[in-house]
Amino acid sequence: MVKLTGVKLSKSFSQHGQEQRVLWDLSLALTPGTMTALIGPSGIGKSTLLNILGLLDRDYQGTVSLDQTVTNDLNDRELAHLRNSQIGFVLQEALLIERLTVRKNILLPTIYGDKQDKAVLAHRVQQLATQIGIETLLDKYPRQLSGGQKQRVVLARALINDPDIILADEPTGSLDEQNAASVVALLAQLAAQGKTVLTVTHDHLVAEQHQYIFRMASGQLVKER
Ligand code: ADP
Ligand code: MG
Repeated sequence: MVKLTGVKLSKSFSQHGQEQRVLWDLSLALTPGTMTALIGPSGIGKSTLLNILGLLDRDYQGTVSLDQTVTNDLNDRELAHLRNSQIGFVLQEALLIERLTVRKNILLPTIYGDKQDKAVLAHRVQQLATQIGIETLLDKYPRQLSGGQKQRVVLARALINDPDIILADEPTGSLDEQNAASVVALLAQLAAQGKTVLTVTHDHLVAEQHQYIFRMASGQLVKER
């Protein structure tokens, strides 16, 4: 299992000639087998941090490491490979491809990177779908699903390559209390398996179910628990 570390991360955006500092010498280390919640007001930089930790954004100061690998030293191709194999992203908006079935949507991340055995993948989709409670939805299309069901499909898609690190940006944002609870329960189950989970949430009930809670303020993290 993989330890994710960010050291002295800084990031600014310039807009209308004005520089806005979003991250300011921010450091954190996420331990495998733990769940961490990231809270803080809208616009403070939570998604910005997640994108950097998730190796989607290279335009920052500081270093991001996975175990001993300093990702700053990797070229784009190596970085994409690492991201695809080790990091599962659950994005804020459940973006599914409408013309593909749920099954094909879940399999999307397997198209890139190393070729994988079709039968093994088919089995894995089935296994994940059962774990997440969407096994009866695999041949449906996104428009036939409720918001909560879509969110779980997005989660399955994030997990299909069996990543060690799961970064979730408001994964329960569009869910009712019951569906939110089941998504959090699943994240907890993954952490119990040794994975590293970081969840951005504005929902205190969701945050409370994480081992560690950090609040983002003035470009830094304040440990609340
Ligand atoms: P949060 O996820 O906490 O709501 P974000 O990380 O999305 O906040 O954004 C933090 C700040 O950075 C916001 O003020 C936002 O306007 C700014 N920002 C984010 N992305 C960009 C961008 N691509 N260009 C300019 N400013 C941006
Ligand atoms: Mg955000």
